[in-house]
Amino acid sequence: MSRSQELYARARRIMPGGVSSPVRAFGAVGGTPLFIDKAKGAYVWDVDGRAYIDYVGSWGPMILGHSHPDVVSSIREAAARGASYGAPCIREVELAERILRRMPSIDRIRFVSSGTEAVMSVLRLARAFTGRSKILKFEGGYHGHADALLVSAGSGLATLGIPQSPGVTAATAADTLVAPYNDFSAVEAACSVHGHDLAAIIVEPVAGNMGCVPPAPRFLETLAQVARRVGALLIFDEVITGFRVGPGGAQGIFDIHPDLTCLGKIIGGGLPVGAYGGRSEIMARVAPDGPVYQAGTLSGNPLAMASGCTTLDVLMLPEAYDTLEQRARELAGGLAEAARSLDVALTVNRVGSMLTPFFTAGPVTDFQSAKTSDTSRYARFFHAMRERGVYLPPSQFETWFVSRAHDAGAIRTTLTAAIESLEIARRAADPN
Ligand SMILES: *Cc1c(COP(=O)(O)O)cnc(C)c1O
Repeated sequence: MSRSQELYARARRIMPGGVSSPVRAFGAVGGTPLFIDKAKGAYVWDVDGRAYIDYVGSWGPMILGHSHPDVVSSIREAAARGASYGAPCIREVELAERILRRMPSIDRIRFVSSGTEAVMSVLRLARAFTGRSKILKFEGGYHGHADALLVSAGSGLATLGIPQSPGVTAATAADTLVAPYNDFSAVEAACSVHGHDLAAIIVEPVAGNMGCVPPAPRFLETLAQVARRVGALLIFDEVITGFRVGPGGAQGIFDIHPDLTCLGKIIGGGLPVGAYGGRSEIMARVAPDGPVYQAGTLSGNPLAMASGCTTLDVLMLPEAYDTLEQRARELAGGLAEAARSLDVALTVNRVGSMLTPFFTAGPVTDFQSAKTSDTSRYARFFHAMRERGVYLPPSQFETWFVSRAHDAGAIRTTLTAAIESLEIARRAADPN
């Protein structure tokens, strides 16, 4: 029995599924989750001492790679000055200034402790500001686990939401409308019926939680226009894309100014964090300036703020994003080429350093088309890669993240493993 197996057995007796977040349990690919002992650069080591090239990157935050020396020393320095004060500190002002400089749509920002909390708070604010109750989201879009967003569509276009989890009431779900991603006419339909009561449209400007799916040309512009027309707010959930796809996030690369933005992941450099911000007249409603209540014991935590400041500073070095782009392009191109030569149906979607190879002929433009993927093929590929020292997201419907620590050698090693693994995945029957 491996140490991971031992720990997993122990954990399962005392924690639901043996994990602190469901996807970590390997439910979609089978097998025993790896318990991670340490991480450095592009690598993670499991408790059995095996090293893996890591494309999970803690699901997005680790854009500099693990244990970047500058980030480690800024966290160490901050820790020595006290872990939390419950009072304002200089680092939150510094991080706020760094974010506002890079995202001109944000006039004011509030820090919270997770992306979920950012989204939950921003919905309350959007509803308070507009005096309306409904929200439009997209199928396959994930915005954390707040009740209002744990909702998926029934069949048909722009349906009223049905709860996706027990414990979410039908009344809550009924205020959430769902449209397919990249579906212009479903957005129009939803807004023509419910526009008068629509508080906000919330979207991942590059979808990352159904696997990586880029927005269709003019899709985001259309959302901005429709929102303005019906008097709803446009919310970009940039918890993944913020400072990932470019120095100004997705709103920078697509040149769109949303009314409100949610952030998380990268802005904490691996420590727990979230933030929301936007136009000053909307943010003026947030307590204590305004009546919309929202608070947090650990909000603006000095360790997380220090880690975030240093992460953003290192990311602003010249060529940071060019190198990320180049490495990710090599990886995506290499995967597509290997699949072609082995005659495996594979659609590789990529935006900057986010990518997903879908095991389908594609194209993958929304959640429905993503779901045409052969998930048992992905599971075989995942395990073959793991055996060859590459740690991938344990689900077809997740994004791989390339970091600054993935050098040309790491990409080459990954592609060598991928060629063998694609061959294994192609075999129809499970070799076991
Ligand atoms: C991860 C994620 C969240 C939730 O953030 P947590 O910190 O896990 O609560 C929200 N929105 C998007 C787009 C995310 O990827």
